[in-house]
Amino acid sequence: MTLSSLTIGGAHAQLKEKKISSEELTRACIERIEHADKSINAVIHKNFDRALSEAKKIDAKGVFAHPLTGIPYLAKDVFCEAGVPTTACSNILRNKDYVPPFDSTTTQRLRAVSAVSLGKTNTDEFTMGASTETSCFGATRCPWDTSRVAGGSSGGSAAATAADECLFALGTDTGGSIRQPASFCGCTGMKVTYGRTSRFGVMSMASSLDSIGTLAKCVEDVAIILQAIAGKDPLDATTGDVPVPNYTATLKKGVKGLKIGLPKEYFIKGMDPQVESAVRAAAEEYRKLGAQVTDVSLPHSQYAIAAYYVIVPSEVSSNMARYDGVRYGHTVNDPQSLVDYYEKARSSGFGAEVKRRIMIGTFALSAGYYDAYYRQAQKVRTLVKRDFEEAFGGVDVILAPIAPTPAFKIGAHTDDPLAMYLEDVFTVPINLAGIPGLSLPCGFAKGDLPIGMQLLGPQWGEEVILRAGYAYEQATQWHMRKPAL
Ligand code: GLN
Repeated sequence: MTLSSLTIGGAHAQLKEKKISSEELTRACIERIEHADKSINAVIHKNFDRALSEAKKIDAKGVFAHPLTGIPYLAKDVFCEAGVPTTACSNILRNKDYVPPFDSTTTQRLRAVSAVSLGKTNTDEFTMGASTETSCFGATRCPWDTSRVAGGSSGGSAAATAADECLFALGTDTGGSIRQPASFCGCTGMKVTYGRTSRFGVMSMASSLDSIGTLAKCVEDVAIILQAIAGKDPLDATTGDVPVPNYTATLKKGVKGLKIGLPKEYFIKGMDPQVESAVRAAAEEYRKLGAQVTDVSLPHSQYAIAAYYVIVPSEVSSNMARYDGVRYGHTVNDPQSLVDYYEKARSSGFGAEVKRRIMIGTFALSAGYYDAYYRQAQKVRTLVKRDFEEAFGGVDVILAPIAPTPAFKIGAHTDDPLAMYLEDVFTVPINLAGIPGLSLPCGFAKGDLPIGMQLLGPQWGEEVILRAGYAYEQATQWHMRKPAL
């Protein structure tokens, strides 16, 4: 067993007792990346020299008071780190060799506790996608079957975590981008309540939905990371001024008496029966553990995709405006005029999916259409949010599938954007409502493909879903299975 397969909790215990060093741990991750990444293409920028020199300094100090001290991690390539190339996996920044002069709040908070940054992971271009196939660096492959996608957009972070290339990885989730790749790759992922973590220094896709979270090997590790990165940030006005509970302290309280709801709208025609039975079996497991499982209804679920794919492109069209080749983005030679300059920079810099969303969003926000599309979509968003508020009046946690199928084949949806959007059917309502969702492994489909489930909680309710996730994980051990790479 390589050191890089340790959990954060496991590695911390050994670091503290000086059984291993941060340098050894970092080297183990680097070796694993050099080996496994040839097959999965999860890491697109390697920062190994810096990582090793930081690890050596941490060892020399020898103080491992914080559980993340000396722990190597990877960040999705939308997190700015001072002095480290950051591209959002888009040619518009890659061609420019963009290097941010500052840190995102999240990487800054991890630096403050001396976690070791190894580099950047692959993502769909500006996080737009569900398969990592829209990246200018090419698709990330599922560690369980490299002819399949790792999911997306945080596919690089999920695949790297599942393949033990790091101890954990940072991701973002605007419509499922942490939960779905976690489910396809068989790792654990947390999409927090909107505003629980800071978006400062993370390249935006849709600012009213983007949330910063993590992919890890087990629920306890998620709790440890969340503890370090959560909380009010003066640099992001949308972070909530609410206390951050002690997540690890309540993790082991069990689920006796907890009310868990199964939303009937999340078991639909066309979904893979293996996914349905794995999620229903998880509900059964909760019953055995002493929870009360009941049916709940989220009646507006069927409208969520349509609303999401109006709101997101609208915000995209605004957020992408800064990449004009002047403020941000690559420069072009010999333009005929200013408009020609913009046109050349943007048409050669952005990929097809980004362009599609800019056009849809510009249309949806234009005079005469704003009321028909954008305003309507916002109304639907409120209805979806109310569905959850009502459901949480009767249950503590909602248990649902994440994706209708396990990881699909590379190229399966590339010519059909609508089919790709439908992959998000179970994930986007959670972002529209702004609530937290924990994704964890709950079984395997034919061909050894992981299946994930999501535990949803009320606003700011990360504590209860972590607790429920931990209890399930202890009883089942799906998360212990590793891909043969
Ligand atoms: N697949 C969704 C989309 O393409 C979600 C992406 C995300 O969460 N970043 O918008």
